[in-house]
Amino acid sequence: VNNYLHRINANQHLNAFVEVFVDEAIQKAQLIDKKIKNGTAGKLAGMVIGIKDNICYKNHKVSASSKILEGFTSIYSSTVVERLLAEDAIIIGRLNCDEFAMGGSNETSYYGPVLNAADTTKVSGGSSGGSAVAVQADLCLAALGTDTGGSVRQPAAFCGVVGLKPTYGRVSRHGIIAFASSFDQVGPITKSIEDAALLLEVIAGKDEYDGTATSIPVPNYSNELNFNGKARIAYLDETLNSEGLDPEIRALMQQNIDLLRADGHTVEEAHFPLLDYVVPTYYILTTAEASSNLARYDGVHYGYRSPQAIDLESTYKKSRTEGFGLEVKRRIMLGTFVLSAGYYDAYYAKAQRVRRMIMDNLNEILSKYDFILLPNAPTTAWNLGEKLKDPVVMYLEDIFTVQASLSGLPAISVPVGQHSNNLPIGLQLIGKKFDEAGLLSFSKILL
Ligand code: GLN
Repeated sequence: VNNYLHRINANQHLNAFVEVFVDEAIQKAQLIDKKIKNGTAGKLAGMVIGIKDNICYKNHKVSASSKILEGFTSIYSSTVVERLLAEDAIIIGRLNCDEFAMGGSNETSYYGPVLNAADTTKVSGGSSGGSAVAVQADLCLAALGTDTGGSVRQPAAFCGVVGLKPTYGRVSRHGIIAFASSFDQVGPITKSIEDAALLLEVIAGKDEYDGTATSIPVPNYSNELNFNGKARIAYLDETLNSEGLDPEIRALMQQNIDLLRADGHTVEEAHFPLLDYVVPTYYILTTAEASSNLARYDGVHYGYRSPQAIDLESTYKKSRTEGFGLEVKRRIMLGTFVLSAGYYDAYYAKAQRVRRMIMDNLNEILSKYDFILLPNAPTTAWNLGEKLKDPVVMYLEDIFTVQASLSGLPAISVPVGQHSNNLPIGLQLIGKKFDEAGLLSFSKILL
């Protein structure tokens, strides 16, 4: 803990942490030290973990990196935090993220951007940018992020670490500040596959507080990390030959395909003709859900209330106008629009149907193959500020991560190489529903 506290202090310019629980972490370490000596310590004893600032931890502040939740303190812990603590993890602080997890560069945070430790002129990726950089820069051993459309995988890829988005329903969302409830999942960001497996087996499983958290038993992922046998892997012609894909990332994909074949695995081309529809479908559905989820921030129930408010209507209007950032407002308006009478069928209902087609397409591929191999993002981390002016340019960066989210499938980003610009490159594997064990063990072959 002292080592990490020292490193956090020395790396404040990265802006990864929003708050560090200094005294608590030191006390906890002493307590756990005793437990280790008594032989009563849990399986995460000694693991120093940071949590994204949209994960509730009782009696600690949580803000989703938004002004509207400034000063808000959690009155209960999320299920994932309860489970970490029950296994003696030490939670060292909360980590910067895009406001309400909306973004792909950590630049929409009320607390300012997180810098990529590989090159501080570049973005960290997002929305779990603080989580990825904290692990990348050894400010904690592991972190939890949340992934709605790539927010664990993409920053992990940009920072050269491992990021896993579990199957929808594998991990409880109780106590996670909701963005788009039919997409959100908590996932680990780690240096190794072993740590990701260990964290997942602790946080996963049914939960009486989240009806979407499945009762399917949780395997001992960390005991199942030896992938035996030969896998069948599909790569998608449309992603490999996508126009915007950086040539070095394409070359790395090709190289990995060749290596896997040389290893005796079957790697074949498959087709995903719906690629052009994934980003619009994702943004229609997630903004619709967000507009509803964020209606609760009314200046009355939680956090910020405008000092200018004089009656009920101005409390709502002014608190929301002053409390939400630009990107969050854009999404609330877009979501309200696609849900409004007269447009609902044209946008929301149609997007739901396309979501089903995307799911069917991927599940059809996964009925013939164990995994789908694809890039994580079309590029490596970009310059701070570079894509802020045009939201559509930013949204298009999500083209390779949102299909797993739309389909509820598990997916992992594995750091496999470095670009000639010295930035990390991550490749992505999508697995069958609830086959996190396969995904984790096979990823070790790529690493
Ligand atoms: N970049 C995507 C978005 O802005 C993903 C965000 C996320 O997964 N939370 O919505």
